[in-house]
Amino acid sequence: SDRLKGKRAFVTAGAVGIGRACALAFAREGATVFATDIDDKGVALLTKDGIAETARLDVRDTAAVEAMAKKVGDIDILLNAAGFVHHGAALECSDSDWDFSFDLNVKSMHRTIRAFLPGMLARGNGAIVNISSAAGVFKAAPNRYVYGATKAAVAALTRAVAVDYITKGIRCNAICPGTIETPSMLDRAAAAGPNGRELFVSRQPMGRLGTAEEIASLAVYLASDESAFTTGVAHIIDGGWTL
Ligand code: NAD
Repeated sequence: SDRLKGKRAFVTAGAVGIGRACALAFAREGATVFATDIDDKGVALLTKDGIAETARLDVRDTAAVEAMAKKVGDIDILLNAAGFVHHGAALECSDSDWDFSFDLNVKSMHRTIRAFLPGMLARGNGAIVNISSAAGVFKAAPNRYVYGATKAAVAALTRAVAVDYITKGIRCNAICPGTIETPSMLDRAAAAGPNGRELFVSRQPMGRLGTAEEIASLAVYLASDESAFTTGVAHIIDGGWTL
């Protein structure tokens, strides 16, 4: 329970789902965790579970991200979880749908990385973990046109950061989950009809959905020094979806 002892971690979209599970797992492993979300009330609930500090942060707001990084100061771990699933094919994706998805799913990570990387470089130490997706990177999923494009961009951005700062003590990895039971995933299932959940389960060969905690276990590994020889990799964790 001290795999992240002495480390400071910053998490986006920490109120629910994968971001929340990562924040809690980091804290359980001894990190001092700063968790943020636009759902500031939701994220504030985490303080009773060992999260040191919480705050409202809209990752679409460059000035807010920069101000937050100044306020938080040095961190060892940056976990980028914010993301949105647009449902639809190319013809259902308007320019504004495209721009919103790229802004929230990709440029958000560009913002937090630019804000926190200088501090990591100054101390020669940093682990960045970006939540991508199996969809878009390892598999084409129906009606995930712009979503898949954003998640492939996250994988590419991850490799770019990894290669550019590899000699400076910075590691940058991506996690590519399959279907994970989270609030927005359950909303998507409900929107697919009365048997929506079964539909989502049926695309997972293990016959079940993944849990946010299972994603958090991989995030702890990638955030810790145990993975010191690993950088620039899109780590798939998909219950066999892509088999
Ligand atoms: P979710 O979609 O249920 O919740 C998203 C969270 O992001 C909410 O707390 C919301 O308030 C927050 N958020 C939205 N806009 C924000 C903004 N502008 N700034 C800050 N926070 C904002 O969570 P989830 O399903 O765990 O998804 C988390 C990440 O995991 C996303 O990047 C998603 O694409 C990725 N992912 C999820 C699955 C899945 O099956 N659930 C699979 C693969 C990848």
